[in-house]
Amino acid sequence: MRDATRTVHHPAIDDSGYASLSPATQRASTIVFETAQDYTNRTKRDLDGYSYGLHGTPTQRILQAQLAALEGAAYCAILPSGQAAIAVVFLACLQPGDHVLIAESAYPPVAGLCRNFLAPRGVTWSSYPPRIGAGIAAHIRPETRLIWMESPGSTTMELEDIPAITAVARAKGIQTGIDNTWATPLLFKPLAHGVDFSMQALTKYAGGHSDLLMGSVAVRERAQYQALRDVMRMLGYHTAPDAVSLVLRGLETMAVRLAHAGRVATELAREIESSHDYPVLCPALPSHPDHALWARDFRAGSGLFSVVLTAEQAAHLPRALDTLEVFAIGASWGGTRSLIAPMSVDGRTPPDPRLYLRLSIGMEDPADLREDLVRFFAALAP
Ligand SMILES: *Cc1c(COP(=O)(O)O)cnc(C)c1O
Repeated sequence: MRDATRTVHHPAIDDSGYASLSPATQRASTIVFETAQDYTNRTKRDLDGYSYGLHGTPTQRILQAQLAALEGAAYCAILPSGQAAIAVVFLACLQPGDHVLIAESAYPPVAGLCRNFLAPRGVTWSSYPPRIGAGIAAHIRPETRLIWMESPGSTTMELEDIPAITAVARAKGIQTGIDNTWATPLLFKPLAHGVDFSMQALTKYAGGHSDLLMGSVAVRERAQYQALRDVMRMLGYHTAPDAVSLVLRGLETMAVRLAHAGRVATELAREIESSHDYPVLCPALPSHPDHALWARDFRAGSGLFSVVLTAEQAAHLPRALDTLEVFAIGASWGGTRSLIAPMSVDGRTPPDPRLYLRLSIGMEDPADLREDLVRFFAALAP
């Protein structure tokens, strides 16, 4: 070999005796083959075999297997964002002429996907009030193929009766999916409650450090996984191994972070409710209208809750937000930093004109968060 050749041929080294607790980050576009026969057989490889970096390397397979185990699933697909994970489920389930039902309280870009992307391509959609439970039957049309849930709902935090909805869907042969980002599979296991597609934005608690985007979809059956992977292949969806390795690291501390965030969030929510006298929407508190459903289905509370403001308080919000020293003002939650974001909601029946504050609790000392909130609510008071 001459020097230029040596620069591109990495030497084979002996890795026997090497063991690390950290999974390797394996990057690839092209995958090469040992023999001519291997090359010929490459298209016959299993879905999770290796044929092109687009379809994943062992780094992705580790995360897929780890998430599948947490979800109680047989398969798990990894997508480049939470929204991409939602879109892949919709595209895998829906053809022109089909209808999809989404919860009114779903992450708002889901309605955007239906309105701006699917509807022009012949898929119809409508939304249902999240507390409908078995009453979902009245919203189902002959062409309904998918019901999309989120519990608790984004910002307004309504719980859905998931087993009641999935029982109706199953009886009618309709698939169901859920955005389980708030709970993660540590606090709620959708597949065990009859859901077909369990999605989470790994951007939030699994990543956990506000420095990446990723999503996942877990399923029980091979045909469902095949349908997801087909869409991913057609659209060229790929998730970089470097980001996957950050999620593998984030996962290692997720249980501890989530338990802490859930405990502190519930404490602070209770204090805001009692000392500051604000209506708080936190499923782990007995004051939440769906607390009983939460207690039935969820293992513990998560770190995100909302506070409802009056119009007068909303008018003082800019000056109150500017007093914050520990909380950051921002929306994409689930990281180590606590966040506050003002949120308004649309698409509700009847329309809901109220302003909400959404709080995400991070890893700071709760005493510092508490002091920040005392300043904040003092500035908010008329
Ligand atoms: C953040 C979020 C998403 C979207 O995730 P991205 O990775 O930001 O696309 C979806 N659903 C919920 C409930 C979220 O909070």
